[in-house]
Amino acid sequence: MSQFSHSCSRRIGSASMRKNFLISACIIFLISFTGKSQKIYIITDLEGASGVYKWSQIDNKDDALNREACEYYMKDLEAVVKGFKEAGAKEVFVFDAHGLQIIIPHLMTPGAKYLTGHPRPYGLLGLDSSFSGVALIGFHAMEGTENGVLNHTQNPENHARYWYNGVESGEIAQDAAKCGFFGVPVIMVSGDDATCREATRFLGKDVVTVTVKEGIAEECAVLYPLEETYKALFNGAKKAMTVISKCKPYVLKTPIHAKKIYYDNKGLDPRFPIPVLKTTEWIINSEPEF
Ligand SMILES: [Zn+2]
Repeated sequence: MSQFSHSCSRRIGSASMRKNFLISACIIFLISFTGKSQKIYIITDLEGASGVYKWSQIDNKDDALNREACEYYMKDLEAVVKGFKEAGAKEVFVFDAHGLQIIIPHLMTPGAKYLTGHPRPYGLLGLDSSFSGVALIGFHAMEGTENGVLNHTQNPENHARYWYNGVESGEIAQDAAKCGFFGVPVIMVSGDDATCREATRFLGKDVVTVTVKEGIAEECAVLYPLEETYKALFNGAKKAMTVISKCKPYVLKTPIHAKKIYYDNKGLDPRFPIPVLKTTEWIINSEPEF
């Protein structure tokens, strides 16, 4: 009996050791693939926020319309930060990339850090290879996109278009390439439907896209109610944590052949081609700066 008990307890002992080992292995697996220890970097832009569809919401920093648009954005951001945190992100870092800045301090969500203001010593401050994924929140389609709400690339007043290695690219590809330089993939993009199509075209089918409005024209959109976009963004961020291992960093082959054209279509007859004011071409050999 005692022999039986002894050998039985040994079997139980080795079985429980195996069980503990399996549980530990499962925890490590889950940490690696469900994002329990992941760091997420969020890049902001205002034109693709819920409820934003006209330039008067963008142009004048801190006037009533702009302030309201920034409040819409902070709600979008809250949903995304909460989604990432709920799905286990260890660290969420928000980089306020929109030219006139968006962040309203008293509307920040606990559990994230927010970098805003100027001047800055270099591009995507704080981003390095320790981050697991990047979210482009409130983005817009590239300059010239049909039905793209507030479509532009870089400064909207300049009307510029950009090509890298012969591929016309907008801000989604530009920021994805900057992140790709550090080996970090874009895992989530939000904006209008044209933005989401552009994201999938450049970044592949695994990137999570969240449509918060449908574009009819540059300043005309079918807006989705903010409560609905909030839920979609929250769920999108949670889902994005599960695609980290599937999303590949967007890397431009060096040397990068870059081309930029400026043009001006203000006050011109739309039936005629838009005159190009200036074309610039250059080579990028290291970290992309656009
Ligand atoms: Zn932009």
